[in-house]
Amino acid sequence: MVSPRNTVTVPPSVEPALELVRKYNVPGPRYTSYPTAPQFSESIDRDALRREIALDNGTASPPALSSVAGPLSLYFHLPFCETLCWYCGCTTVITRRRASAGEYVGWLEKELALTAPLLNAARPVTQLHFGGGTPTFLPPAEIDRLAAAIHRHFTFAPDSENSVEIDPRRLTKEHVEAFSRLGCNRASLGVQDTNPQVQLAVHRWQPLAQTAQAITWLRDAGFQSVSVDLIYGLPLQTPATFTTTLDEIIALNPDRLAVFSYAHVPWIKPAQKIFDDRAQLPTTEAKLEMMMTAVAKLTAAGYVQIGMDHFARPDDELAIAFAEGTLHRNFQGYTTRAGASLYGFGMSSISQTDGSFYQNSKELPDYVAALEAGKLPVERGYLLTTDDRRRRTIISDIMCGRGLDFASLSNRLGLDFATAYATELADLTELENDGLLVRHALGINITALGRLFLRIIAMRFDAHLTKRPGGFSKTV
Ligand code: SF4
Repeated sequence: MVSPRNTVTVPPSVEPALELVRKYNVPGPRYTSYPTAPQFSESIDRDALRREIALDNGTASPPALSSVAGPLSLYFHLPFCETLCWYCGCTTVITRRRASAGEYVGWLEKELALTAPLLNAARPVTQLHFGGGTPTFLPPAEIDRLAAAIHRHFTFAPDSENSVEIDPRRLTKEHVEAFSRLGCNRASLGVQDTNPQVQLAVHRWQPLAQTAQAITWLRDAGFQSVSVDLIYGLPLQTPATFTTTLDEIIALNPDRLAVFSYAHVPWIKPAQKIFDDRAQLPTTEAKLEMMMTAVAKLTAAGYVQIGMDHFARPDDELAIAFAEGTLHRNFQGYTTRAGASLYGFGMSSISQTDGSFYQNSKELPDYVAALEAGKLPVERGYLLTTDDRRRRTIISDIMCGRGLDFASLSNRLGLDFATAYATELADLTELENDGLLVRHALGINITALGRLFLRIIAMRFDAHLTKRPGGFSKTV
């Protein structure tokens, strides 16, 4: 395995990087999965999908040669938000109707009851995540009700990583305590930017004191890891304002940070059109400067850069997994939990077994209608080919910043990697000449500059892109 410690660590400087950003700033996937979601189809073979789920749970008949089912990762999509942040790319339901929370927990109870019999109850849950939307749209009593339903159907490993996305604007101490009772021990806080003008421009007013209060409540409740999400590339942001944002957040001492590039996709998220009209978005040059400032400031503050856009304290398990080359990537981003099958609940949630992806209905009425009819609300999916599985492994290694170790990949893929992917490897010459990676006899190391372009490197191994290249946000 090419260790991340072997990657070239000379920090990139702005000028050459700027040239490359202009060259490579093309639309591309974020690779939280491979193949990516646009490949999912409504015409998926449902019988084959059921067989795949049975195989995944070791309950297929006849049993598979290897029928030892691994651990489970569970995801719950809680879609409600009181107001819309105009940059938002999530699947949400904007409402102030409080009764929606209890009704939705009722639908989740139904979905759990329909799904649990398909799964192997002996599989321990090693990862649980609540995303949204705003999970704390649920009042504490409904969180307790959902907790009871989850614990009725699943058994958790003692060291399970249970996380919740937190909007500090919609949080009380009682919410924190309810998620703690449920078993949550990690939280990620949506902040994006602390500058008041930027907050007004994106329709998300969030005083820094609110964020600080949320972190205090979470730490008091015993949460082991508190992460903060920031976004660069938002309206009215400048390198100077974003520097202040970084300083203010570093002062709150989160365990991890995720610093995402704003994904401008107004053809998918029409609310984002408002930014086009006002011509408020920062230039590519300004975005690059913000990103490089983030890398410089956070590493100077003692954080380790992980993969593309995550940072963690050196003693954080994410940083340790990165150093040891055992980091993984799934729909929630980077994770230390390998080999778990992901089962998603709630509208738009995605499930992932070794051989399949499938996604629930993205619209609440469709999701509810399916459950009312006693059916799983699966809308579309994808069954992976052998080639897909191999490329998934390769792309995961790239996105986790590991580079490509030919011997390790040959071993894991069951073929001679350098021979089987000779075309793709030859296609890396341009990226090598531009300083994004270094090739040697045993593999490929990604440079510090190349870390800014992981999506571009991964795209060279994506067999589906040539068939359907459009629809993604810019890669930088
Ligand atoms: S709170 Fe989060 S999910 Fe809801 S609209 Fe804002 S960014 Fe989107």
